[in-house]
Amino acid sequence: MSPAEAQARILQLRAEVARHEALYRKEAKPEISDFEFDALARELADLERAFPEFQTADSPTQQIGDDRTEGFARAKHRQAMTTLDNTYDEGELRDFHARLAKLLGRDDLAYTVEPKIDGASISVTYERGRLVRAVTRGDGEEGDDVTPNVRLIRGLPATLRPPEDLTSPPIPELVEIRGEVFMRFEEFARLNRLQEEAGLAPYANPRNLAAGSLKLLDPAAAGNRQLEIVLYGIGACEPADLVRSQVEWHAALKVWGLPGLEKIWRPTGADAVWAAIRELDTLRAGLPYATDGAVVKLDDFGAQQTAGFRGEGQSGRKLSPRWACAYKFAPEQAETVLKAITIQVGRTGVLTPVAELEPVQLAGTTVARATLHNRDEIARKDVRVGDTVLVEKAGEIIPAVVRVILEKRKPECVPYAFPEVCPVCATPAVRPEGEVAVRCPNPDCPAQLTGRIDYVAGRGVLDIEGLGGAVAEKLVATGMVRDLFDLFALEAERLARLEKGETTGALTKSGKAKKAPELGDNNARRILEAIERTRTFDLGRWILAMQIRDVGGATAQDLAALHGDLPTLANSAVLPLLVRLAEAETERAEVSPQSRKNPPKDEAEKAARVVRTAALAGEIAELEARRDAIPGAAKIGPEAARQVLAFFGSARGREFVAKLGKLAIAPTWTKVVVGGALTGKTFVLTGTLPTLSREAAKAKIEAAGGKVSGSVSAKTSYVVAGEEAGSKLDKARELGVPVLDEAGLVALLGE
Ligand SMILES: [Zn+2]
Repeated sequence: MSPAEAQARILQLRAEVARHEALYRKEAKPEISDFEFDALARELADLERAFPEFQTADSPTQQIGDDRTEGFARAKHRQAMTTLDNTYDEGELRDFHARLAKLLGRDDLAYTVEPKIDGASISVTYERGRLVRAVTRGDGEEGDDVTPNVRLIRGLPATLRPPEDLTSPPIPELVEIRGEVFMRFEEFARLNRLQEEAGLAPYANPRNLAAGSLKLLDPAAAGNRQLEIVLYGIGACEPADLVRSQVEWHAALKVWGLPGLEKIWRPTGADAVWAAIRELDTLRAGLPYATDGAVVKLDDFGAQQTAGFRGEGQSGRKLSPRWACAYKFAPEQAETVLKAITIQVGRTGVLTPVAELEPVQLAGTTVARATLHNRDEIARKDVRVGDTVLVEKAGEIIPAVVRVILEKRKPECVPYAFPEVCPVCATPAVRPEGEVAVRCPNPDCPAQLTGRIDYVAGRGVLDIEGLGGAVAEKLVATGMVRDLFDLFALEAERLARLEKGETTGALTKSGKAKKAPELGDNNARRILEAIERTRTFDLGRWILAMQIRDVGGATAQDLAALHGDLPTLANSAVLPLLVRLAEAETERAEVSPQSRKNPPKDEAEKAARVVRTAALAGEIAELEARRDAIPGAAKIGPEAARQVLAFFGSARGREFVAKLGKLAIAPTWTKVVVGGALTGKTFVLTGTLPTLSREAAKAKIEAAGGKVSGSVSAKTSYVVAGEEAGSKLDKARELGVPVLDEAGLVALLGE
């Protein structure tokens, strides 16, 4: 099941479960049996576990305290991962201290106060300094082994750094380190933009998306999402007495080169703890991750041991530590009135509803607009113009309408009718199957043309300052620009006379309408210069300018690095391999004889599936070996590969390539490798090598700092010739250029 299908089904199931629950509880008129109801609820829970990025706090499943998913190996924690008792109340926090003070017989207890990160819990194990395993919390005793995905997290070292001085703790034999995998706000926003452009519902929040990404079965797809990790807790450790307090533990993490918390506090007594929490609350907006509270722990490990765990002794199962608790900050919410719902049309035609609010103070800013996501969300929350709504803002995330305050609904408020036509070009809107977004299907829709121009003008794409926003809108409205390539035909004179912004409607003294201000000569010249500069831009930027679905900045660079130039990308040999690999993996999961979702009907089918699974396993192993022989190929996700192939196979893609060619723009990608074995050397490949594909050989040469060129000249350092080498080999001999076979190349690479 694809994420889009899963998401659609989850939304459907939630609505179903809620409806049947209401019929059953409120009206006592059930339409289905208890058994059928339970089956629906179970299917929803299973799907949300398989796709945690679509889980939301209001789902009926939120009581399930277990993150384990089908498809992962299970691994036991050496020391259980417990959860913390939560409180939103200062009084309860003071009670927590009072209990400990009584238990330990003193009031001046030292604590640590740490930011409570709203991410996905993880336990990473290092043995003799090497990262060997990463496991989710699971049910506390046993979690999912997600080591391959965690290894992809930048900033998490594969080996610990030995301390340079003798006063720091040495690297332990074995240590379980607890922390949180999270996603930065920018990355969350980037992925949601891609999601929106693909017509899919946005992800709920960075926490769920991080948890979902950690559980992607395909590490390449996981690698397309930038996750980060922060470590702070200690689990099993050998030797056990390596450090004696939480503060020492934080210091040890830093010494070993691990990503730790930016700041921790070490207050003594309840008042100082409270002061530290207040300080954290003022600082947390500046942290790169969402924090939803503070974790307060007894600092001294000896004191922790005395305090012990809840549940210890009774069930034998540790529930939560008595020596720690979490103080949670209430999310920042405010009530305001929804004045109107406006519809924005994006560059891919998606109609996004926006709530226009009576301005209200929230998390230190004035909020006047909030996203309503899509038509389904408006219907699900039954948001109506004139309603009093609750808006929430967490960190850098765009404000959102949480719910309607129904008690304050006025009788004249009518259900919102989502527009049937595009508000910009009046084309009837469509809703493609499997998508939640409603789209304007007209590719010539001025809003879409403007959006596309605005996008390519962006700093990360073709960086044409001064072209975005109102200028792009005017260029499209006047018919001067319809696509990116029209920019190259702009004339300075006409551009300078472009009226920018709206006319004010004001009248001159003589009673004529005042003319809107013009762009002017200087601005026009600057824009044209910026357009000229794009001719020399690298392949990565031009790939972004193509505006291919599922291809963001990191993927564009990876694609550029993998292919080197546009013709190679347009005729990629690597991407079909990645797509086939993903297909084979999907089929293997579907036909697995052990599949719980799709079990074999009888023994005959089971036997056939065993055979098919074995064949697929062989094919997958072969494809993986071919992929892994090409450095960087594993970084490209299958969906991105599919979309790139579709683009170059489409009329739009062929036109893009042709128009670039007409403008004599030939973007390339040069990887700068400092100190590689082949730095400064130029290679020409010809014929078929025994084991390496041409892409693989090229990638290896480039990874070592060498360059690969298409034709032999006196400047060529080496010609690498395989079977059926043609005229290039003759030319090499003629010019006296050294000729290598594959073994020779491998030797030169020093492998
Ligand atoms: Zn339109």
